[in-house]
Parts: sequence; C-alpha cells; structure tokens
Amino acid sequence: MSSLAEKERIAIERLRAFEPPDGYFVCVSGGKDSDVIRILAQLAGVGHELHHNLTTVDAPETIAYIKTIPDIVIDHATDKDGNRLTMWNLIEKKLMPPTRLMRYCCSELKEHGGTGRVKVTGVRWDESRQRSENGGLVKILGKPKTTQNLAEEIGADYRTTRQGGVILNHDNDASRRMVEHCYRTTSTMVNPIIDWTDSDVWEFLRHYGCPANPLYQCGHKRVGCICCPMQGGDGMKRDAAMYPKYKAAYIRAFGRMLKCRKEAGKPTTWETGLEVWKWWVGDDPNQLSFFEEEQI
Ligand code: SF4
Repeated sequence: MSSLAEKERIAIERLRAFEPPDGYFVCVSGGKDSDVIRILAQLAGVGHELHHNLTTVDAPETIAYIKTIPDIVIDHATDKDGNRLTMWNLIEKKLMPPTRLMRYCCSELKEHGGTGRVKVTGVRWDESRQRSENGGLVKILGKPKTTQNLAEEIGADYRTTRQGGVILNHDNDASRRMVEHCYRTTSTMVNPIIDWTDSDVWEFLRHYGCPANPLYQCGHKRVGCICCPMQGGDGMKRDAAMYPKYKAAYIRAFGRMLKCRKEAGKPTTWETGLEVWKWWVGDDPNQLSFFEEEQI
C-alpha cells in the first residue's frame, strides 16, 4: 500500500472512530485541505453536514467554487442581537484593523458555528509552526480545568495548548471517551489529516478528480480572505491589486473606524483611512504598531 493510501485509510479510521451520534459539522473553507476532508467524510460513510462561513472578504472565485459543492450550507456570522457581522462593521466595532496579533475576524467571522457539535477541520501540522504547536488529531477548547481533570480521570494521553486547550494525538478509547464527554460543552475539533503534507493533499485530490479552488491555478498557495493580515504586507498588496474594490472598501472602513475611535475618545495620529491602509500593508515608514499608537 502506498504511503498516501495508508494515510487515507488512517484518516478514514479516525473519522469513523470519533463519529458523534448527530454527525460531524465539517468546516469547508474553499481551500484544498477542506476539499480533502469533505471527500474523506464521504468515503468514511460518516454522518456529516458541510458548512462554509462567509467572511465577507472571501475571494469571489472562492464563493463561486463553494457554490458548486453539493449540499453545502453557507452561514453568515451574526452578533448576539442577530445583526449580520461583516469585516467592515467589525473593523468599526473593534476600533482597529485586524492584525497578525489581533485577528479578531477569524473567531468572529470564520470559526463561528458548530456549537455543541464535533467539528472536522483540514488543519495540518505542515501548514505552520504555530499549528504544529497548537494542533493535534483532536483539539478541545473551553473549560480548561474541567477538561484537563477529565483527561486525567480517563487516563488520556494529552498535552495542553498555551491557552489551556487539550490536544489528543491518538484515536484510542481514552481519546474517544474524551470527545464523547466534552463535545456538547466545549469546542471540539477532529483533524483527520493533521499529519498530511502538501503533496499528499494534491495527490489525493488528483486521484479523486477534485478540481480544487481555481485560485490555485492562478498561482495562489493559499486561498484565504482578501488582504488577510496573516500573509504579510506583500501578499496583502498583491490581493489589493487583484481586487481593487476590496482595497477601497478597507480604506472606507478604516475611515469610519477612525471616526469611531475619535468618538470613543481613543488616541490616533492617523487622519484618513488611506493612512491606516498604508500602515496596515507595511508601507508607512514610521511603522508604529497600533499598540504603540495607543500610548501616544
Ligand atoms: S482575514 Fe485572515 S485573520 Fe481574518 S478571518 Fe480571514 S483568514 Fe482569519
């Protein structure tokens, strides 16, 4: 058996091992890893629903691709009063742009939903050092003390993340019991392809004839949000050149954000949304951070 066939077999076993009675909540971002997990869920024959969270800064190509996936549910983020959340109103509300250190948009726009369900994600160690440190086959977030006590009680082989989450790397009985006990009250994620490499992902998609998001054919290595700060200034500027309407929308949102900062009595040396934009993409020679800025 080839090593990819073996990885596929193990991933299917993992999905079957942790299958909850109400089926999985599969998080489909529109990227290649989420294509793999949705195909694997079908191959495993486990109960599941496919969900895509609209971030409002998804590339149009990604939205068009998502719409070709049968039975996908497209979800919108809302606040506690039921008002629709967008990147644009979040920037105003948070009084700062999202940054690598303060990526509030991920939790509010991208990672919401699936409360009380076991989520399946395409997280892989190969993707980043941070993911290697904070990711595992199963990740349980929330109620850190109770969850760790339970892991001790059950005898699970676990480690903790910096935020107190619990990581399990074995699909043995103890891990399964942990998931069974925790998933209603915590955020529980199963990551069946955690140990797959980029080439495993591409080979798998080729084998199953999955075309993947067309942005990959345009040379994109990742297909995240337009101007995502996690990609660094060069990537943000590339996105801005490709989607000028989104650049203009960010600049307008930053302008409204400055107005809100002033109304809230928060200090700012910036006068216009364009100035914030330049700082945001790394073109401001002064390179003040927002946190330094707070103290001026
Ligand atoms: S812009 Fe980046 S940090 Fe924000 S939701 Fe999208 S992926 Fe997450």
